[in-house]
Amino acid sequence: MSILEARERRGLKMKALASSSLTWITIKANAISSIRLHPLMSSMVVIAYDELLNTIPLCKQEATLDAEGLVIYVATNLSGIEAKKRCVSMEENHPIGRLVDLDVFEGGSSISRSELGIAPRLCFLCEQMAAQCVRSKTHDISLIEAYSLKEARDYLLKTQGRSAMFGMVAELTRFRTYGCVGVMHSGVHTDMDFFTYLASLRVLWHQFDLMDHQMTGNFTQLRAFGQRIEAHMFEATYGKNTHKGAIFLLLFAISADMAKKSIQKRIEHIRWLASEVKKDFDQTPLTYGLFASKSYSIVSIRHLVLDGLSWVYQTLVPKIGVSEDELMANIISCIDDTTTLKRSDLATLRFLQSWAKELLSRREYDSMKELDDYYMKHRLSSGGCADIYALAYYIALREGKV
Ligand SMILES: [Zn+2]
Repeated sequence: MSILEARERRGLKMKALASSSLTWITIKANAISSIRLHPLMSSMVVIAYDELLNTIPLCKQEATLDAEGLVIYVATNLSGIEAKKRCVSMEENHPIGRLVDLDVFEGGSSISRSELGIAPRLCFLCEQMAAQCVRSKTHDISLIEAYSLKEARDYLLKTQGRSAMFGMVAELTRFRTYGCVGVMHSGVHTDMDFFTYLASLRVLWHQFDLMDHQMTGNFTQLRAFGQRIEAHMFEATYGKNTHKGAIFLLLFAISADMAKKSIQKRIEHIRWLASEVKKDFDQTPLTYGLFASKSYSIVSIRHLVLDGLSWVYQTLVPKIGVSEDELMANIISCIDDTTTLKRSDLATLRFLQSWAKELLSRREYDSMKELDDYYMKHRLSSGGCADIYALAYYIALREGKV
């Protein structure tokens, strides 16, 4: 879909929202069109959403993902003027306020800054009126792009929780989800949607920030912490498992980041920490992942962890920057996803993997659409692959690769 089409659709959407008696706020990236779909920019939208929910009573919410990027719509019973005041305060005072656009609509028309007697927004680069710089194309596009991406990146790198959140946002805002929950649909899931994931992600991000160095050298402590985080996730989602696999992977990766500098040392650190996971294999299988690993001799995510996640660090992360389709073809073809297995059988899993491998070797990434459709049609899900995608983006950010 082109930007114009996306804008037109958004205009129609706003018209529909205008018939409601509520005040609507749209949260979107304040970025030039070439980077609006970048996961760094989608993360800014999620941060603004998280921040706004602290100051605005929420009545309804919706979201879209198209050429305009991720847009979250929030409805409140505040007056338009009051909502606009709170939004402007966030735009002006939050460290990433300049990277988001918070527009407020009441009765179908948008409330402008001038109605509040507030000056228009200024350009990031020259502090002149932003609208003027856009109109006269004052700045080179690559400079504006670089500025926005750097500001977003710097903010996300400040804490491990923010970096982990970025990984989870990158995963959640994929265009094709292979049966998983995304922005525009819930995949094959009927009991959760985008906002269930967002609720989970908001809790997890702040929880990951509580991890400290003590946990990095001790699997028992790490596991106890992981169980606590999981409990928070289930509370936020009313008992739905949104990120259990991602939590498991991110705990190891964050722990390795805190303990070691070089990639090789991090891999060794994870191998050493995970040697405790081996004990799980000797116990009566409790989870489906464990059961599947034992019964089918497959390479599950637990096996990847036992190997220090070396495949993710050394093979997958260096590929970040290729298209979403190409990255997913790599993941699907290499990972024995027990989530897929749970809804099908080993023959189906192998069929999907060889399909992805074939598209990869022929570089026919557009055909990933048909693979995505297959997952939906056959009610399959690829939750394990999604967790790896989130992990790869977390590591890539920390490595300076996004
Ligand atoms: Zn300017």
